[in-house]
Amino acid sequence: MAGQTETVSSMNADQISADQVNADQAELQKFASLAHRWWDPESEFKPLHEINPLRLNYIDGIAGLRGKKVLDVGCGGGILSESMAQRGALVTGIDLGEKALNVAQLHKLESGVTVDYRLVSVEALAAEQPESYEIVTCMEMLEHVPDPAAIIGACAKLVKPGGKIFFSTLNRNPKSYLYAVVGAEYVLNLLPRGTHDYAKFIKPSELSAWCRAAGLDVAGMTGMNYNPLTKNYALVGDVSVNYILHATK
Ligand code: SAH
Repeated sequence: MAGQTETVSSMNADQISADQVNADQAELQKFASLAHRWWDPESEFKPLHEINPLRLNYIDGIAGLRGKKVLDVGCGGGILSESMAQRGALVTGIDLGEKALNVAQLHKLESGVTVDYRLVSVEALAAEQPESYEIVTCMEMLEHVPDPAAIIGACAKLVKPGGKIFFSTLNRNPKSYLYAVVGAEYVLNLLPRGTHDYAKFIKPSELSAWCRAAGLDVAGMTGMNYNPLTKNYALVGDVSVNYILHATK
């Protein structure tokens, strides 16, 4: 199909400037410089590839992806978006990183899945299509934005009443500093140095309060733990480092 080979920027005439929206230009640039490596499972994005089956099963188990209209906010190169589409969801992926979206757009041709990728801010989409999605996911993004509460508010607006929202991020405490910054960036070299800014990590109590302020009910949480010995991730009850929260509207 001719439309599938269009670049993301040409699909969206409205070019977005990061300083006009709730986005951190330096953070977007960080992801842009790595974008060509998004689908390399041995690259900086290895942890996202490794946690993907776990988070996919968690979301599918709770919300049932087949046939649902899903919005993936901060979709990057489309690791989660594609996998949700493969489970039968009708997925829209949005991001403010044009390079990542172009990678996502090309990769879906290779995978043969259908995902609608758009370069648009979540706040602008919320104004354009409120209450349009049965499921909204926003993974590993809130710790990279200036105003996470505003992102959560926009996600809440986009989901239909009775719909489900999933947020994942990093907890903020000495253990998460040790694991996510010192361990992952300096000892194990899983991530480039400077990937994470500890001050922007979010405690489950803060995320829950923002969800409630956005009119959502927090329905559950799970931790995602990395075991450096087995080099495996697992879903665990312990939410002290990486965790996913799910909420309903
Ligand atoms: N959610 C994906 C990618 C996580 S990486 C996954 O878990 O697999 C973080 C992504 O958030 C990057 O693609 C970056 O471009 C995007 N991002 C950062 N700030 C953003 C913002 N304000 N709005 C939309 N996307 C943003």
